[in-house]
Formats: sequence, structure tokens, C-alpha cells
Amino acid sequence: MDRNDELFKAGLLLHGHKCPAMPMGLRAGMAALEALGVERASDGQLTALVEIDSEHCATCYADGVMMATGCTFGKGNIRKLGYGKFVLTLIDNKTGRSVRVATRNEVIKRNQESEFIQFRKKGVPASKIAPELIEPAMDFILAEPTEKLYVIGPVTEVKVTPGRPHDFNTIICSECGEVAVERYARIKNGKVVCIPCAEKV
Ligand SMILES: [Zn+2]
Ligand SMILES: [Zn+2]
Repeated sequence: MDRNDELFKAGLLLHGHKCPAMPMGLRAGMAALEALGVERASDGQLTALVEIDSEHCATCYADGVMMATGCTFGKGNIRKLGYGKFVLTLIDNKTGRSVRVATRNEVIKRNQESEFIQFRKKGVPASKIAPELIEPAMDFILAEPTEKLYVIGPVTEVKVTPGRPHDFNTIICSECGEVAVERYARIKNGKVVCIPCAEKV
């Protein structure tokens, strides 16, 4: 894979800047799809569990995972586990088949030692770093053989708890006049209101 790859280009558009972590998630997602022998999720067929948290290095990983797997914030089929680790577990919701793809320590170390990270540590936003300082680390992730980037666990079976059916009913808040999904409506002084209005004193 290289920078001409359509998935990479789409990932870059979604993500907004060049960096090694987004491609790291992209390739992890692709590796997981391949291990399970499934296609990218056009609906909610798959669940992605990412072990990253927030405000730490390489959280951009999750955007690559979203792009590759089709598990997105909007569909609600990607979850952060908050462990501060660069690992993806992908689950096929229909069969319960699951695979864990862990980024190899030496790959993370290589990133940490890249010129790119030295600027990030000084607080320079990724978009303000010269592309030629980012590209070597990024191109490495794009081109390296999958097995050199990740430890790909065996495919195991997990129990999938079916999600609740989607709610389509809505209300109009009697205070702010905005629409809210019915399940989130509250009663305040006998009137139907949204949560922020219910919590207003
Ligand atoms: Zn990034
Ligand atoms: Zn309201």
C-alpha cells in the first residue's frame, strides 16, 4: 500500500493531516478484515474495539480503524476501551468471530523515535510539521508487510449481545422547541422536555 491507495486518500481526507498513526489503524483494520474473511461494514455488521484512550500519542490510530473497517462513531459500532494501547479487536456480529490485532512494540518504538514525534512532543500540531519529516514514518507503515507491523491473534468466538433496535420516535421539547429522540425525553412540571432543559435550574 502507498499514498496513492484510495483507502489511504479517503483516510487522509477524514483525518485531516499526514501522520503515521492513522495509517497504523488503517492497516490494522485491513489485517483484521482479512483475518476474519469479512468485508468492510456497510451497516452495523462489525464491531471494533480500540484500546486507545484520549490525550495521548497516536490516538489518530482510531480514524484509520474507522476508515478501514467501516466501524464508525456515527454508526456506533466502534468503542474505545481506554487502555492507552494500540490494539484493535474486530468482531463479526453475526457469527461472533473475533480477532485481536496488536501493533508490534518495535513499530511503536520506531514511530516514537521518528523526527515527526520530536516536533509533536514540543507541541507542534501535526499539520504544521513539514511533510518531508512525516512521510518517511508514514510510508513505512503503509509499505511494511502486515505481519511485521502486527501480532494477529487467532480467530476466536465471542458472545455477541444484540444491540437494541433503533428508535425512530421523536418529541419536540416544550422549552427549547428542539427535536429529541423520545427515549431521552423528560417530564418537568408536567411538560415534555429534552435533557438539557430538564437539567436547567
Ligand atoms: Zn494524525
Ligand atoms: Zn429543550
